[in-house]
Amino acid sequence: MKLNGKVALVTGGSRGIGAATALRLAREGADVAVTYVSAEAQAKSVVAEIEATGRRALAIRADSADAAEVTDAVERTAQEFGRLDILVNNAGIWHDAPLDSLTVEDIDRVFAVHVRGSLLATQAAARHMTAGGRVISIGSNLAERVPFDGITLYSASKSALIGMTKGLARDLGPREITANLVNPGPTDTDMNPADGEGADVQRAQMALGRYGKPEGIADTVAFLASPEADSITGASFLVDAGANA
Ligand code: NDP
Repeated sequence: MKLNGKVALVTGGSRGIGAATALRLAREGADVAVTYVSAEAQAKSVVAEIEATGRRALAIRADSADAAEVTDAVERTAQEFGRLDILVNNAGIWHDAPLDSLTVEDIDRVFAVHVRGSLLATQAAARHMTAGGRVISIGSNLAERVPFDGITLYSASKSALIGMTKGLARDLGPREITANLVNPGPTDTDMNPADGEGADVQRAQMALGRYGKPEGIADTVAFLASPEADSITGASFLVDAGANA
């Protein structure tokens, strides 16, 4: 097990990609905390599944759009488990709307969850990390290509993570802490169900012609968290079944 003795925090770990990632990191030996906003029962069931693997787990209610809550979640994780080695900035919300209807509140909320929350969590986590620490953020293939209208805000917020990740690589590199970005394509979760409205349109754009699974994104995160990835930093990884090809 590659992550024995490590402690991880996954934001938005109650469902979908975050839940799969939390479980995967635990199966590699890490103790894992997850945050959630509303799905308390699901967060608790992720905790139970992790504990069944013999690892310690913790569910923390923390809205990534709230600066104090997201910072407190980092502090609580480090306090409860005695250290923090891996941060996965995964919490995310879908947003699509015609450009003309975007409100200031929409823009602030999406940027607060995706960008400000990730940056604040990373700032707080980095204070606890030592050499070998890992910051892994979850972006989107829509950060690199925008194949339809109405997603300017979502794409803008996700592409900000590309610059954030490169900056973090520079800021944290001297301490042997890496920062990378995983950009999923259409992945079968509550946010984007493989049998949902619009799924066929997305599938038609994918080289492999099929949705990804949350576990596939989790595999990439687990690799980037492992010692084998110690020379990878500032990089973005498309895991999109060829949607952007
Ligand atoms: P889901 O909607 O299935 O799950 C979202 C998770 O994020 C839940 O655990 C949810 O918590 C949590 N969350 C939402 N808002 C907040 C918040 N303000 N603070 C803390 N946690 C929050 O989404 P996915 O698993 O599909 O998405 C995970 C990430 O992957 C997101 O960043 C998304 O943008 C990205 N992504 C997803 C793709 C897809 O096709 N599914 C494609 C590309 C990127 P709760 O359960 O309490 O609501």
